[in-house]
Amino acid sequence: MHPLIGIPCSTAASADNPPGYHVNQAYARAVEQTGGVPILIPLLSPDSPALRALYDALDGILLPGGADLQPQSYGATPHPKLGSVDPNRDATELALARWALAESKPILGICRGQQCLNVAAGGSLFQDIASEIPGALIHRHEPRGALAHHIRVDPASALAEALGSSSFDANSLHHQAVKDVAPGFIPVAWAPDGVIEGMERRDHPFALAVQFHPEELVPGHEPSECLLRSFADAAAHKYGR
Ligand code: MN
Repeated sequence: MHPLIGIPCSTAASADNPPGYHVNQAYARAVEQTGGVPILIPLLSPDSPALRALYDALDGILLPGGADLQPQSYGATPHPKLGSVDPNRDATELALARWALAESKPILGICRGQQCLNVAAGGSLFQDIASEIPGALIHRHEPRGALAHHIRVDPASALAEALGSSSFDANSLHHQAVKDVAPGFIPVAWAPDGVIEGMERRDHPFALAVQFHPEELVPGHEPSECLLRSFADAAAHKYGR
């Protein structure tokens, strides 16, 4: 069983190179180390038959971290603290997320990926935790592998089962967070300040999201390894080859 796990790229722009695509190596390595086959997805138009064909060939979708989603995608106007955006990535990822949610393909959202799943299903975001949530913890905490704050997970949730844990410390590299949870999703994990750190769908075989970065914590962080392995297992069993 070698499930093909698609990871959308971000737009890469620099003065020295023609326009490119980028994915942090940590995602590909973490998928490989936990039983999956990482496949990088270029930012083709949602209308492209090639994007749909690629999606159809994949066993699971991993939506990774990255730039902020455009607030227009959830009906908001840009906040002064909005970070950089990547409109082509928004378009590709929102299409992949909606297909996977509608068609029961295993999907895991990480950081921006959680936010993308929420927006794809009709939810909204805090555009900047520090300026919109009084008293919030610091959620943008380097280095990337540092355990920044505690996470409490509903022990009865599918996310807790996938993590193999309902209480652990994790890293935190975000300045945005889920605000209004999308219809169909249930918040199931929280930081001590109440910021949503995980969500899931109960009407789907595997649609989970976390706000922390498990790909930066493997190997060695048991809940991260368990989550990524559970995702690969779900992809292998549902669409196993
Ligand atoms: Mn956090």
